[in-house]
Amino acid sequence: MKETIRKLRQEAEDALSGALSPDALEQVRVSFLGRKQGRIGILFGQLGRLPEDSRKEAGRLLNDLRSWLSRSLEERLAAAASAPADLPDPTVPGIPVNVGRRNPLLLMRDELVDIFGTLGFEVATGPEVETGWYNFDALNIPPDHPARESFDTFFLEDGNILRSQTSTVQIRVMEKRRPPIRIVAPGRVFRPDTVDSTHHHTFHQIEGLAVDTDVTFGDLKGVLSMFAHLVYGEKLDTRFRPSFFPFTEPSAEMDVQCPFCSAGSGCPVCKGSGWIELLGCGMVDPNVLTAVDIDPAVYSGFAFGMGIERIAMMKYGINDIRLFLENDLRFLAQF
Ligand SMILES: [Zn+2]
Repeated sequence: MKETIRKLRQEAEDALSGALSPDALEQVRVSFLGRKQGRIGILFGQLGRLPEDSRKEAGRLLNDLRSWLSRSLEERLAAAASAPADLPDPTVPGIPVNVGRRNPLLLMRDELVDIFGTLGFEVATGPEVETGWYNFDALNIPPDHPARESFDTFFLEDGNILRSQTSTVQIRVMEKRRPPIRIVAPGRVFRPDTVDSTHHHTFHQIEGLAVDTDVTFGDLKGVLSMFAHLVYGEKLDTRFRPSFFPFTEPSAEMDVQCPFCSAGSGCPVCKGSGWIELLGCGMVDPNVLTAVDIDPAVYSGFAFGMGIERIAMMKYGINDIRLFLENDLRFLAQF
């Protein structure tokens, strides 16, 4: 009997160490301590058949085994119940992480900077608060010139102004450097426009300037046509229409075929014409070169400027300029 009890204890220890879940521990309990078929209980039932002297010792050994197993099972169950609280539950859904993204205006600006970068233009920047000299006079817009009205801007109390176009950067660069010059100037500009779906008092431009010997209108057309193809694809054609800007002569507007009805059939976006105005450009007016001490008899140049909002609205199919600045995540999360 002593040997049987010893073996049973060994089996109980093995069963305990193999039982890793509460369910498995319960099976061990039923198997050894169960009221009807528990193996310890069965041995208790056989005690009566033993001779008196060995019955006492066997009873004591069985009692020891039963209390040891009960205690061990309790400890293991308590450990199993507390363990899951210490470990992360891999089945719980994760916490969503909201990653910010760039405003579509900045995406468009960087794409334009990249495109002109591959064409040899470096980035130049300048202040948003300017003097009248940089915003008007040096750009061939004298105080009595009617063109001042269309570039009218916000005046500060000290007489300085919020720049109405990034052409100011062209002047600042040409004052400091001698040709060859090839720059693009992206930046924020300000005009007292009434805000509607296509106008805003604060918007962004990117301007370009190339000054060197023998720069021709053909160079201008080549660079700008390539730019339009890179942004809107090879299929869309471009055209140049005569225009007027105080700081360029001759001046032109460049149109691109409407990307929304690309066959040129006409749609509400292009007002039925099949073309969309993209940017203004022209050959740098000799008066502008003279103002920065670059001899117009030796050097010539071309310049262009466009609204980044307009380019982005056409590329992404955005119908209201105000969306860029309203911080509405339903809009911003789409880019
Ligand atoms: Zn169209």
